[in-house]
Amino acid sequence: MTESLQDKLLEIHRRLCLIFGCPVAYFRALDPLSELVSSLLSHRTRNAASGAAFRALRARWDGGRGGDWAAVRDADPAEVEATIAGVTWPEQKAPRIQAILRRITELRGELSLDFLAELSVEEARAWLEQLPGVGPKTSAAVMSFSSLRRPALPVDSHHHRVAVRTGLIPPSVAVGPSHRILEAQLPPDWTAQQIYDNHEVMMLHGQRVCSYRDPACHRCVLLELCPTGQARMGGEVQARGA
Ligand code: SF4
Repeated sequence: MTESLQDKLLEIHRRLCLIFGCPVAYFRALDPLSELVSSLLSHRTRNAASGAAFRALRARWDGGRGGDWAAVRDADPAEVEATIAGVTWPEQKAPRIQAILRRITELRGELSLDFLAELSVEEARAWLEQLPGVGPKTSAAVMSFSSLRRPALPVDSHHHRVAVRTGLIPPSVAVGPSHRILEAQLPPDWTAQQIYDNHEVMMLHGQRVCSYRDPACHRCVLLELCPTGQARMGGEVQARGA
């Protein structure tokens, strides 16, 4: 990583934090196992649909505590699939979630991820990524979004798109490998909150300004830092700076 890339990331972060307001409030504090199930449901699915599927799972197999994951693990797969029918690929996600719940039980002798709090972030993410279908985005989400509140950077498609367009990563780097590169650009002393903020503001900017089909470069606070925006706007940027 060159120093200039970290400088650029810091300036992007500073500008976006002014827009979206940092620190950004955490949107929930699920236990890490529940956060893992939620993250698995959310893949390529709108937040509203994955949230509804998560609530449906917890309500259907309540266990008196709101979410009995052992009961979900042992349930009829067709019933699990029907309960999460609103997400993308429920026929794949239902058996995958059940397989992961079985694997955690085999490895740990119980169905809980609370032990991750005792591991370093690197160890915990490596443990999670040995599970079938769990990659860096999901492991980072469990560490960052759950009640663990550990420093890890999830990169979703919006965050990734902004990082590519602003030149933080080359276009050839896919979402998965981008995690390690973008994390390495963060200052090593950043707190979990600051790293969470970075993910949130990049994602929000991608959703609200730097959209996939029609990025609003003319009103983007990153335009002077962004080669893609400058190319799209042509001479307009030079005229602005003159
Ligand atoms: S200038 Fe355009 S392409 Fe660059 S980050 Fe802003 S909206 Fe996206």
